[in-house]
Amino acid sequence: MDIILFGMQGSGKGTQGKILAQKFNLTSFDMGGALRAMIASGSDLGNKIKTIVESGELVSDDIILEVIADFVHKQSADQRILFDGIPRTMHQMTGLLELLQVNGRDAFGLLIKITEEEAVNRLTKRRICVDCKTIHPGFYEGDACKECGGHLESRKDDTDLGSIQKRIDAFKTETTPVIQAFEARDHLITIDGQQDIEAVTKDLIDEASHLFK
Ligand code: ADP
Repeated sequence: MDIILFGMQGSGKGTQGKILAQKFNLTSFDMGGALRAMIASGSDLGNKIKTIVESGELVSDDIILEVIADFVHKQSADQRILFDGIPRTMHQMTGLLELLQVNGRDAFGLLIKITEEEAVNRLTKRRICVDCKTIHPGFYEGDACKECGGHLESRKDDTDLGSIQKRIDAFKTETTPVIQAFEARDHLITIDGQQDIEAVTKDLIDEASHLFK
């Protein structure tokens, strides 16, 4: 069974995803990271995506589904995948579930729940390493990346309150129905994301232990 991490911006999907992937040998896929890599490539498509991402809009479902299909096709059948940042719309959910089914796979959702107030607070304070792209939470006090020593800065879409609000609104209107659909299929576990990192990890592992066997 593959795993989909759901959660509002800043809920800690990236942090928890990295821990779970390492601990349970999952191949993780981070859609935001994949899009930022496409932007960094400077291709025509990357430049188009840059404008969308920086304004806080969602990239079109067609592009997203093409990127994810390319990734899923490269995975071996027995390698479990952890998805972060997809699906964010009902159309993406249908496309992803179809793609998984065709490849003999299925996915279960884990929701890391935080309030909107906490999300805004975390986004305005977090910083990303310009070199290895690791995200550092607001409480990280160092000036250099804890992984590679690189320079830390705010993500462009995290410095603009309008962009932050747009992304949170998209989560509420576009992604909430997706989460509800997983819940209706009994394919969702919800975890309290407003605890420290270790406590969230512990809850995820305890509550979803059947997914990690
Ligand atoms: P956040 O969740 O804080 O917005 P991400 O790194 O997950 O950060 O995504 C950054 C941006 O990339 C999003 O605001 C959006 O523009 C784009 N993006 C990522 N995943 C998707 C997706 N599944 N569908 C559409 N756009 C996406």
